[in-house]
Amino acid sequence: MDQIPQLQQLSEQQRFEMRVVATVLPFRVNHYVINELINWGDVPSDPMFQLCFPQKNMLSPEHFNCIAKLLHDDASQDQVNIAVDDIRQPLNPHPANQLEKNIPQFDGERLEGIQHKCRETVLFFPVQGQTCHSFCSFCFRWAQFVGDKELKIAANDAQTLHSYLREHIDVTDVLITGGDPLIMKAKNLRKYIEPLLQKDFAHITTIRMGTKALSFWPQRFVTDDDAEDLLLLLRQAIDAGKHVALMAHYNHWRELDTDIAELAISCVREVGVEIRSQGPLLAHINNSADVWARMWQRQVELGIMPYDMFVERDTGAKRYFEVPLERAWEIYHDAIQQIRFGVYRARPLYERGPR
Ligand code: SF4
Repeated sequence: MDQIPQLQQLSEQQRFEMRVVATVLPFRVNHYVINELINWGDVPSDPMFQLCFPQKNMLSPEHFNCIAKLLHDDASQDQVNIAVDDIRQPLNPHPANQLEKNIPQFDGERLEGIQHKCRETVLFFPVQGQTCHSFCSFCFRWAQFVGDKELKIAANDAQTLHSYLREHIDVTDVLITGGDPLIMKAKNLRKYIEPLLQKDFAHITTIRMGTKALSFWPQRFVTDDDAEDLLLLLRQAIDAGKHVALMAHYNHWRELDTDIAELAISCVREVGVEIRSQGPLLAHINNSADVWARMWQRQVELGIMPYDMFVERDTGAKRYFEVPLERAWEIYHDAIQQIRFGVYRARPLYERGPR
């Protein structure tokens, strides 16, 4: 955080509070988000600042004070680590018992890094994709980013995925997820996707990837050194008859508002990939019908399909971001009312599938 000059406009106390929270919850932000997406004239209430930077009330007063005291007292790293571990566990690192549930077996072995929740869909967590360009402070995947192997869901073996899918001809959808799988180099992604284009995987009709690269690093599709190779791979999948979709994380219309974000969207659409947007309804970021209506409308104009609206999950900084269900319903309803009917219909809150 010391390397971000814009933070100097905050008080020393505010910067210290952010450091306390970032000791427990993961924090990462890149220069594109800092320079292009945050309105520094409106910090700390700016929604993109809230999205990416730690805030004091993300921790309970008890947890906050515990870490603040250790940092004030210059406690050893070991003492801090012990306290941090004690705090992370009650934050429910993997809600709904994810580390245990939905993990399939093959040849008598548990397939770590794969989840098979519903018959048609397999989720795959490639090890190279278990981080993101920046971290969202609300993210229910936060435990993937804290460097604790015990908490991480990840697979590094493409063959295991392919063997499992070859045997399961009732699976039609593969969702490659993270973190952000598009943080991977195209050559790594190719190892997972290319074999699925062969005849023995004809039953896999849809390949989806959960990503926030269109928002946090649109350069991924435009100027990165392997951007062309990535688009080529997506095109190859489409030419092989697959339906390919990016499940794009969006939380605010601001993320759609830069030239390079628009360009990235058109590059992806040009190769025939569908972009479906998804994101949770969050206090401090987008708990307003106007924000959702403007975001959905802009997405439709850019050719993105508004697809999922979630509510905050029972994990991490939920206490800071959660919105009562009744209020969430009102916001959804009011936002839909503002949009031209017939253009699209977003899936309502209760119809939720895998991410
Ligand atoms: S980009 Fe997606 S997976 Fe990564 S931190 Fe944000 S919400 Fe979580």
